[in-house]
Amino acid sequence: MIRNQKILIATLFIIVFFIGGAFYLYPLYNNTETNQAMTEPTTEDTANPENDEIPPIDNEKVFTSPITNARSRITKKPFGIYVTPGNSPIEGERFTGYHNAVDFEAPESGTVNIYAICDGEVRVARWVSGYGGLIIQACELSEEPITVLYGHVDIASPASLKVGDNAKGGEAITTLAEVGRYTDGERKHLHLGIHRGKEIVYAGYVEQQSQLSNWVNLEDYL
Ligand SMILES: [Zn+2]
Repeated sequence: MIRNQKILIATLFIIVFFIGGAFYLYPLYNNTETNQAMTEPTTEDTANPENDEIPPIDNEKVFTSPITNARSRITKKPFGIYVTPGNSPIEGERFTGYHNAVDFEAPESGTVNIYAICDGEVRVARWVSGYGGLIIQACELSEEPITVLYGHVDIASPASLKVGDNAKGGEAITTLAEVGRYTDGERKHLHLGIHRGKEIVYAGYVEQQSQLSNWVNLEDYL
């Protein structure tokens, strides 16, 4: 009987040892598997040439906003709209052509600040027919020269920059003109055009749709 008891005890030890060992090892084994899965290189990580490419330009950071609540003010003449005195969203329209700029409406009374959309020198600050007050600033877009037209602004205001002044993006450079001489009779709004190249071009409309490619739509960058 003693011998049988010894065998029984030995058998129990062996059973306990294996079951215990299995319980002890199971989580370790499982963790090891999980860790391996997490650290195992995936096909995306290994030698994917796309990871070395330069990230695309973030349009939103190229220009700063020329006016508060800019996007919500584009209600009448967006970039590229074709207007005639017959179809225009503006009463008493004087112009015909493809609008090469963005109009930001400002029906409120009081001072409305206009901010430079980029860093660059003021090249023009004078009265121009069709605009009234006009400031043109030279800037760069993707290392190419551009000129930025701020139309219907109060160039007589002491806050208004002069030719040769440098402006940083986001800096107040003038204020919107009240209806009259410096809007050249137009409603109170900002006409903002961006022309490609260094040349000073005053046009606010182009005759052919294809000519719009010489101009940049600021709304794409707001
Ligand atoms: Zn306009």
